Amino acid sequence: MSEKKLYDVIIIGAGPAGMTAAVYTSRAKMETLMIEKALPGGQMTKTEDIENYPGYESILGPDLSNKMFEHSKKFGAEFVRAEVKEIKDTFPYKTIVLSDGAEIQAKSIILATGAKHRNIGVPGELELSGFGVSYCAVCDGAFFADQELVVVGGGDSAVEEALFLTRFASKVTIIHRRDELRAQKIIQKRAFDNEKIEFIWNHVVEEIKGDGMVSGVVIKNTQTGEVSEFPCNGIFIYIGMDPITNYVENLGITNQEGYVVADEEMRTSVKGIFSAGDLNEKKLRQVITATGDGSIAAFSAQTYVEELEEQVKEMNLEV
Ligand code: NAP
Repeated sequence: MSEKKLYDVIIIGAGPAGMTAAVYTSRAKMETLMIEKALPGGQMTKTEDIENYPGYESILGPDLSNKMFEHSKKFGAEFVRAEVKEIKDTFPYKTIVLSDGAEIQAKSIILATGAKHRNIGVPGELELSGFGVSYCAVCDGAFFADQELVVVGGGDSAVEEALFLTRFASKVTIIHRRDELRAQKIIQKRAFDNEKIEFIWNHVVEEIKGDGMVSGVVIKNTQTGEVSEFPCNGIFIYIGMDPITNYVENLGITNQEGYVVADEEMRTSVKGIFSAGDLNEKKLRQVITATGDGSIAAFSAQTYVEELEEQVKEMNLEV
């Protein structure tokens, strides 16, 4: 990061929403800083094939992440690895507080921190995490060659990742709490057609068993209440996502579930703070919707900064 402490726009999060916003703001000659605590790419980095992003019939998530990251810096946006602890709604410039206590100022802010995987919250999950409990098939799948795996969940992620795991595992059993999948039909069909995939319907995982390494799961029938044990070598959990918005709790811009409420222009209820991507309250969360949000947020931030600069001039405030 440069010594300069005031940016036109600071983008928090370098997933598809944040990186797209950076392309737009820096190309519009706004001084742009992206702050990301992990690898650029967000959830894309943990996705195998992406086949619904126009222009690429099929592309590996990490490859699309790298391409977007290079693109996001092409017009001069800066990038820093850091964690944001808090945002202060100061005037005329916002203040971003990092986890090490450092403060940076910005004329506008775009929130783009996305969402993170949800835990089941059962005994054994935390203890055996990394020892057979995983939330990332792309990262850990290869460790389970010829072994028997369980995938929990019935959405796009669970079914797509179960399909991916069949490259390594001898058998993948999807345990779902209902008798119908939520995943898109095209993905469902691939799973039903795959000989290595089996289903246990109407069951939830109550405990993950293992002495140092996962050896099985305790499952409960949601209809009869019957409890049984199911042996497996690993368990991949895909039961949805939670938004990463803890650092904006003080701003009062989130709904009951923690998602940011933004309008069609990606404006939050705090002037100068915009929000784009999976952390927003909305129905469809995809790479393409995140990039769309990012471009809109960038344009809104640009308009806001132009107005703010006029206001600062009129009020004779120091820039
Ligand atoms: P999701 O669509 O919210 O699905 C979560 C699944 O987990 C649901 O089947 C849900 O069951 C189940 N579940 C939730 N809480 C549970 C619990 N406590 N115990 C057991 N099961 C539980 O989440 P996702 O699959 O991670 O997808 C997130 C978003 O990303 C979605 O909008 C999805 O469309 C998108 N996505 C898209 C693609 C793609 O287009 N290729 C790929 C991945 C993800 P119920 O069905 O009973 O609610």
